[in-house]
Amino acid sequence: MLRALAQVGFLNKPLQGALLLAGLAVISPWSAAGALLGAALAVLLGRVVFAQSEIEWAAGLGAYDAALLGLFWAAPLSRGGAPAWLFALALIACLGLRRPLRRLALVLGLPPLAPAALLVTWISIGVFAAFGANFWEFARPPSPSAEELALGAALIVVAMLLKNLRATLAALLAAAAAALAAAALGRDPLSLDTAGLWAFTVAPALFGGVATLLPHSRLGWQVGLVAALIAAALWAVWPLATLMQGLAPLMAPFFLGLWFSVVVVLGRERALYLDPELHQAARLIIAARGAGGTLALTGAGMSTASGIADYTAGAWLDPGVPLASYGYNAFIGDAGSRSLYWDACARFRDASDRAQPNPAHHALAGLRAAGWVRAVVTQNVDGLDRRAGVADLVELHGHIDAVHCLLCGQPAPWPEAGAWWRQVALCGGCGGLLKPAVIAFGEGLPPDAWRRADSAATACAAVLVVGTQLAVSSAANLVARARAHGAHCIFVSTGVIALPVYAGDRILALPAERALPALARYLGVATAGTR
Ligand SMILES: [Zn+2]
Repeated sequence: MLRALAQVGFLNKPLQGALLLAGLAVISPWSAAGALLGAALAVLLGRVVFAQSEIEWAAGLGAYDAALLGLFWAAPLSRGGAPAWLFALALIACLGLRRPLRRLALVLGLPPLAPAALLVTWISIGVFAAFGANFWEFARPPSPSAEELALGAALIVVAMLLKNLRATLAALLAAAAAALAAAALGRDPLSLDTAGLWAFTVAPALFGGVATLLPHSRLGWQVGLVAALIAAALWAVWPLATLMQGLAPLMAPFFLGLWFSVVVVLGRERALYLDPELHQAARLIIAARGAGGTLALTGAGMSTASGIADYTAGAWLDPGVPLASYGYNAFIGDAGSRSLYWDACARFRDASDRAQPNPAHHALAGLRAAGWVRAVVTQNVDGLDRRAGVADLVELHGHIDAVHCLLCGQPAPWPEAGAWWRQVALCGGCGGLLKPAVIAFGEGLPPDAWRRADSAATACAAVLVVGTQLAVSSAANLVARARAHGAHCIFVSTGVIALPVYAGDRILALPAERALPALARYLGVATAGTR
């Protein structure tokens, strides 16, 4: 229940909730009592009648709307009698509306906030007006003294500070600016009436955007600032708008400000940035930075958006030819298999040459350059990571542009097309067989690449596994080596993951070209491939 009260101030710890309640009680005892009553009834009713999810309860979100409703209902509740029954009705309506409204917000990619509390309060105000009663009239007017106001505000600020220092300072500045603006507009900045409640607009918009919505991201600051500006503007014009005459702004400027801001700042992909899984993945990368850093291990899914099919899926092989014919032993032992292998590689090389790095490659290059990713190991041989500018790339399976001699190891240029069918793809130095420097089935990994990959795996604190099912044992080994040294994994995959996923791992079930730019933007990295 204290968590629910904490959520009223965008906080989430019981202690923060208690401080917030105490602060509220000092300033406006009836508001505090209302919030407490709302939260308490929601805990009783919500669990039993409105079966809400465990996760929401654990976070205190189950009773959040109800606590807010109680806060708004402070004045009618202070009058006792009939309003108490009406409050019970309003609370039931609020709890009932809560789920569909939250679902609607999530479908639209907007933070759910508490539209049910807002809507039901507006309806309540209308009902009171219809019967000639003033919703805002307290039985005894609340008139906190300057000392009470200061003490209450201090308690609330302490609760906010426990959550996020910088967001609190920013919110205080915003609140001061809003109070000055209110005074300049000739309104009482502390009034709780129609034109008041400014404290529910500007400061929470900033605090909410920064501290709660995207707490580990520069995007949070952008969302918070834009939200605060929109909220302030809405609040200022609210009493002027003819439609809004008599309709208290309550938290509406704050809600609308935050929603508009999310749409403006986060754009079309906003639902992605509000996904807790993305936050958790970013947190792992942030935590890893102070430890051994993050190793990115990439596979075919990285290049899908560049139009390159997974070569292990067989798209490059000749139909009807057994897989064994493309193995290393067949290449050594049989001229026909050798030529088939060259043909398949030539097709893959043509496609790679034509392909362009996609947003996933650019984002990875940005993450690597900014130090969020300390090493990149790829199973891909298409060279697109390198072309996007990924520094110190470890190409575990070689790369398709390289050719080397199997006898003396010297590199060689690609032979002219079809030379292999005439058996002339031979080393100019020693006459040994040339072979594309990519790993065939049954061929050992390049020792140098493996050594670098292995030392990156044993040093890292997190592994970002992108677009690979880890079906190739060398990649699975790297992940196992990293895990043995205490690293957690972030899997970016739309398919099956061929490894057990442990507690503490994160799964972003998204294509690489969406997940990596989102992670990069979240971590404040501007990359060539993002908007
Ligand atoms: Zn040679």
